Amino acid sequence: MEDKILVLKDIKKYYTGAQAVVMGLAGVDLSFSRGEFVAVTGESGSGKSTLAHVLGGILPYENGEMYFRGSPTSHFDSLDWERYRRDNISFISQNYGILPGATVQKNVISALLLSGMGKREAQGAAEKILRQVELWELRRRRAAKLSSGQKQRLSIARALAKPAPILIADEPTGNLDAENSAKIIELLAQAAKDRLVILVTHEFPEAENLATRHIVLRDGLVVTDTPLRPANEPGAIRTPQRKKRSLSLYVAGLQTGSRPIWAATVAAFFALTAFAVFAFLGVFIINLDDTSTYRYDSSAFPNGSKTRIVVGTLDGSPMTQEDYDALLSVKEVSSLEPNGYVSDFQYFYREGIDYQARRTHVQTGSFGEGNMVTTSYVVSENAPFVRTIPMLPEGREFLGVGELPQNFYQVVVGADGPAIGQTLHVGFYAPSKWSRDNIIWLDFQVVGMTGWGQGVYFHEDVGRFMMTAMRVGRESYCYMPQDPQAEEQLAKGTFLCSPDTLRNLNRVEMTTVTLPVTDPALLAQGTTEVTLASRDPMDPEKGCHDLANRQLLIVDPESFEALTGGLISEQVSLTISDYAYTDRVLEQIQSMGYIAASPYRLGATRQIASLAAERMQTLQICLTALIAVVALQIVLLRALFSVQTESFRILSNIGLTSRTARASVLWQILLFTLLGQLVGGATVWMCGCNGVERIEQMLRYLPLPCVLLLSGVHLAASLLSALLVIRSMEKQVYPLAGKNRDLDLGEGKEEN
Ligand code: ADP
Ligand code: MG
Repeated sequence: MEDKILVLKDIKKYYTGAQAVVMGLAGVDLSFSRGEFVAVTGESGSGKSTLAHVLGGILPYENGEMYFRGSPTSHFDSLDWERYRRDNISFISQNYGILPGATVQKNVISALLLSGMGKREAQGAAEKILRQVELWELRRRRAAKLSSGQKQRLSIARALAKPAPILIADEPTGNLDAENSAKIIELLAQAAKDRLVILVTHEFPEAENLATRHIVLRDGLVVTDTPLRPANEPGAIRTPQRKKRSLSLYVAGLQTGSRPIWAATVAAFFALTAFAVFAFLGVFIINLDDTSTYRYDSSAFPNGSKTRIVVGTLDGSPMTQEDYDALLSVKEVSSLEPNGYVSDFQYFYREGIDYQARRTHVQTGSFGEGNMVTTSYVVSENAPFVRTIPMLPEGREFLGVGELPQNFYQVVVGADGPAIGQTLHVGFYAPSKWSRDNIIWLDFQVVGMTGWGQGVYFHEDVGRFMMTAMRVGRESYCYMPQDPQAEEQLAKGTFLCSPDTLRNLNRVEMTTVTLPVTDPALLAQGTTEVTLASRDPMDPEKGCHDLANRQLLIVDPESFEALTGGLISEQVSLTISDYAYTDRVLEQIQSMGYIAASPYRLGATRQIASLAAERMQTLQICLTALIAVVALQIVLLRALFSVQTESFRILSNIGLTSRTARASVLWQILLFTLLGQLVGGATVWMCGCNGVERIEQMLRYLPLPCVLLLSGVHLAASLLSALLVIRSMEKQVYPLAGKNRDLDLGEGKEEN
C-alpha cells in the first residue's frame, strides 16, 4: 500500500440539509498512485465533484477511511487538513478559482508563496510556468479580464507551479471550446509525469487518448474502473523546502490590492467612523465637566472668569521671581497678575456700560437751605476686574504704543480703550469686601496702548494699594506722589495726598494711626511701624459726604512704601488661553508644588436644573450615537468583508491556512483603522483650523491622553468587528473547522 499515495476504503459522504440527507458518496473503494492520469466521469449528480473535494481535503467524509501515503486521515482535525491541502494538493475547479482582481502573475506567485516557496524562487517558477501555458505576455493583466480559456490556463498554471504530488481538476474544460480543452488536457497529462492527476470530466473523449485510467461513477458509487495504459514512472518525491514565515501581511496586501475601489471605500468608511467616534466621544468627554450647568456664586471669588486660575504657595510665603517664571513657563498660561487679590476688585469708568450714577436731591435742612445732591452708583454685573501690568510668558510684548505707567496715576489701555492722553475717571470697588457705596474714585491718565487684551491696565502700585486695603481691613489706602492735581483730586471727593498737604488744605480733621511695617527692607533698617494720618472714623461728619462711611488713610509715598513694600502676594492670578485647558494647567501647577484652583469651578455651587437636564440629554445622545457607530461598523464591516470570502476560499484551496487568513483579516482591519484615524484626524484638524467652532473647542479640550483614548475606542470597535468578520469568514471558508458546515460549500454555491 505504500506506493499508493491515496487509498479510499468504503468512503461515504452525506450532505445534511434542513429537510433531508443527500448521499454524495455511497461507499467508494479506490486507490491511486503518482504517475497516474485518472479520468473520472459520470452523469450529473453522480458524485464526481464530491469525490474530488473529499480527495482534495476540502470536504470531510463521514464514513470509511482515506489513507494518505498509508496513514489514515479520519482523525484529522482542521489544522491537519489545512496542512494536507497546503502541502499535497493542487486543485483546479470549473470556475477557475483564480483571484479576479489580482494580475495573472500575482495569481501564480501568491499560490507559490502560500505553498512555502521563497519570493525569488516563486518569481522564477511563475515565469517558467506562465511561458508554458502561453500567458507570459499577459502577466500584468487582471485575471478578470482574461477570456475563459485563458482563465482556465491560468488556473492550471497555478496548480502546476505548486510542487504538490496530487493535482485534482474538477471539470476544468467545462467552459472551453474544443481547442482550448485539448490544450488543457495536454498540460494535465504532462503534469501527471511525476504526480497523481485526477481529472473530473463529463466529456471523456477529450481525455481518452492521454488518460491512464478511467473511473465511472453513478449515484455515489464506482461503476467501472478501467486501466487504459500504463502509468508514468514518477521520479523521487520532491519535498518542497517550506520556509517558516508569516504570509498574513502578504495576503492582506493581496486582498486589498486586488480591489482598489473596495479598499478606498473601506478606508473612507473607517475615516468616517473615526471621525464619528471623535465627535461623539469628544462631546461626551467635554460634557463630563458639568461646571457650565451651575450658576456662578461670586461670594468667594467675585471674578469668576473661566480662564482665571488662582495660584498660591503651599506655606503662604510670598512668591518670588522664580515662582513667577515657573508659572509663566506653564503651557497655555497667557499672563500672570502678581497681585492675585486685585483680580477680584472691579473698576468702572464708562457710565452706562460699567456703571450708572443716580443723583438724588436730599433735603438736609429747613426749607430753602441745605439742599444737596447725593450720588449713588450701580455697578454693572460685567464691570471689568482690576488688572495691573501683567507678566507675560517670554517672547510676548505687552506695550504697543506709548509708554508703561511710571506712577500710580498712569494707565495703559487695550486696543479698544480710549486714546493716549485722555483722562479716565475710574471708580474702584471690591464686591466681596466693601459695600456698594464705598467706591474710590480716582483719575488716571492714559499713557500707553497695548495690542493685547482689552480694558485698562493699572500701575503696580494700584495693585499694592488694593492688596494693602485687603490686608489691613476694609479700609482703603493710597498715596499720591508730589502731584499738582492733589487738590483737584480731593475736591472731587476722593483723596489723597501726603498728610501734610492734606492738613494744609485744611479740609478734614486728621487723626493718626500707627501700623506695623511689613517691608523687609525697612524692617532690616530697624523701622517697625509707620504713622499714618487718618480721617476720624468716629466723626464722619467731618469728612466728605461720599467718604463718610469709610476710614480713609492718607499716606505719603514713603509710608506707602513702608506699608506695602513687603507685601508681595503669596497669591497670583493666572489667565490661561482657554478654559478647556483648566484641568491640564491645574494638574501641572499642583504637581509643581503650589495650590491652584479655578474660581469658576469653585463658584459652581448651585446647579440649574434645566441646564443639568440638557447636559444629561447630550451625554445620552453621544453615548447612543457612539454605540450606533460601533454597531454600524460591525455590521457594515462584515458586509464589506464578505466580498473577500470568495478569494479566501480560493486561497484556502491553494494552501492558505486559517491562521494566516485570520491574521490577514486582522492586519487589513488594523491598517484600515490606522489609515481611517489618520484621515479622520486630518479632517478634524482641518475643521479645527478652518474655524469650525465646536471642533476647535474640542481640540483644545482634549489632551493627548484623551486623544489616545478616542483612538483606542475606535480601535477596540475595529477589533470587535474584526473578530466577527474573521468568524464569519472562517465559517464559510474553513468548514472543516466545525461541524455541519458542509452546506456552505459545494457545487450549488460554486456554480454561482
Ligand atoms: P457531480 O459533480 O457528479 O455532478 P456532485 O458530487 O456535485 O455530483 O453531487 C453528488 C450528489 O450530492 C448530488 O445528488 C448532489 O445533489 C448532492 N450535493 C452535492 N453538493 C451538495 C451540497 N452542498 N448540499 C447538498 N447536496 C449536495
Ligand atoms: Mg460536479
